[in-house]
Amino acid sequence: MDPNYPNILVADSISEEGIERLQKEANVDALTKITKEELLEIIDRYDALVVRSRTKVTKDIIDRGTRLKAIGRAGVGVDNIDVEAATDKGIIVINAPEGNTISAAEHTIAMLLSMARKIPHANSSVKNGEWKKNDFTGIEVREKILGIIGFGRIGSYVAKMAHGLGMNVIAYDPYVVPANVEKTGGIKVDFDTILKDSDFITVHVPLTKKTTGLIGANEFKKMKKGVRIINCARGGIIDETALYNAIKDGIVAGAALDVFVNEPPKDNPLLGLDEVIVTPHLAASTIEAQKNVAIIIANQVLAALKDEPVMNAVNMPAIPKDALITIRPYIPLAEKLGKIASQLVEGTILRVKMIYRGDIAGYNTEYITKSALVGILSNILNEHINLINAPVIASRRGINISEEKSKDIEDLTSSITLEVETESMKKVLSGTIFGKSEERIIGIDGFKINVIPSKYMLISNHTDRPSIVGKIGKLLGDEDINIAAMELGRKKPRGEAIMVLNVDSPIPDRILEEIRKIEGIHDALLVSI
Ligand code: NAD
Repeated sequence: MDPNYPNILVADSISEEGIERLQKEANVDALTKITKEELLEIIDRYDALVVRSRTKVTKDIIDRGTRLKAIGRAGVGVDNIDVEAATDKGIIVINAPEGNTISAAEHTIAMLLSMARKIPHANSSVKNGEWKKNDFTGIEVREKILGIIGFGRIGSYVAKMAHGLGMNVIAYDPYVVPANVEKTGGIKVDFDTILKDSDFITVHVPLTKKTTGLIGANEFKKMKKGVRIINCARGGIIDETALYNAIKDGIVAGAALDVFVNEPPKDNPLLGLDEVIVTPHLAASTIEAQKNVAIIIANQVLAALKDEPVMNAVNMPAIPKDALITIRPYIPLAEKLGKIASQLVEGTILRVKMIYRGDIAGYNTEYITKSALVGILSNILNEHINLINAPVIASRRGINISEEKSKDIEDLTSSITLEVETESMKKVLSGTIFGKSEERIIGIDGFKINVIPSKYMLISNHTDRPSIVGKIGKLLGDEDINIAAMELGRKKPRGEAIMVLNVDSPIPDRILEEIRKIEGIHDALLVSI
């Protein structure tokens, strides 16, 4: 034991390379069979805890870990860690989302080729004593069109490999600039083109509210007859019932699935179909991925213990210690403006500009701008976005970030304005802080408003006229959706107007559709923050 070194407990088995890395700068105890009771007994001796998924890092363990500064999860999901309890105690939770990119991409290509050449079927047939060459005639993949949905780490690597196989790659990802797709030899297209033109479709998006059921019955109807589908991302992105029906209807010739809505899948009719090949959520399971993940987590945990920047923090304490009192309340406000803007814009985000007016312009506003980026990116990526990785990820995605400052301001002491520009539109949101920390949204697209941000907000554009508010109120009332506050902004009577309704619960899509049908309403969106 070196008394100058921090103490790290590794409570689940991770690759030896990770342990060796930790040992270079820490006293390491690898107690990979430790029980919860034993852990509770000794956790107060350690500065950091490293786990995979076996150890459940519950609140009581965190409370007893009086010296803990960091918890590392050698992997991606942090469901086994009480992140909220850790955040309350100022403990950084770190994961390693990028360690398995290559493995997941290679598995996708393995599934694609296995499906094209019917390898799983041929394998079991030969092992059953058969030799049925004619039953397993496959197809070549060269010159076939591969449609990739979601062009992040894994999607873009799949593109490179598919290009190497001679496939024609097209990709759909509204948050990626065309140049990033072209770099891999592919072409950026819209969603419908992917559906209509692809011979193979593979999904690599995170599972979010927006991507759940991204490919459903309507999408299958648009596809080429004989299309083959791959899902090595998350169960639920492709609607399982719709996929089953599309196979039965002869639209889909094959499906390769590594992930399911329920895992392990139970009574899943897809498993009974010959056209479907499956693996048990195996895409990330390689020796190399485990090694990568262990080394990444070791480096990041050591960085956290030295107070160095941590790229993979899941729960960066929201407000950095060195942020001045004056700018502090603007950091969460900017994140909220970013979240709202990202839900209001359509198209690829090309530019993000923060405008600071009044007193705030005299301060270092770097964290506020970064926080807006966190808000913008957090709904669309598979990793946890924080103040450290947000600017890096944004510029990797080709987003131009700028700040403008002016001491001039009317009425208020300070305001911040976020402009988000895509190739087809620009959204402008302004906010301020009243008193010490009361957040207000004070403008959307030039309309003056005064809104307290809340979890669910209905934002609509309409032509100012009587009865619109009443009709929306009735639709929501009939659905038992409580309106907490309402704010209208207009530039002149009977002119263009905006309405923001704070509602206590989400509004179902069918009610939003009804709202959009009301005469005078141009659009209505439910944003959640
Ligand atoms: P990533 O965050 O690097 O990329 C996700 C991409 O999806 C981003 O480029 C984003 O812009 C895009 N996107 C978001 N919403 C979209 C939408 N509505 N339409 C189109 N594109 C959209 O993530 P990644 O590391 O490449 O992971 C991709 C998926 O693979 C995730 O679902 C992840 O959970 C899964 N995964 C599965 C395994 C496995 O074992 N099967 C292993 C690793 C990752």
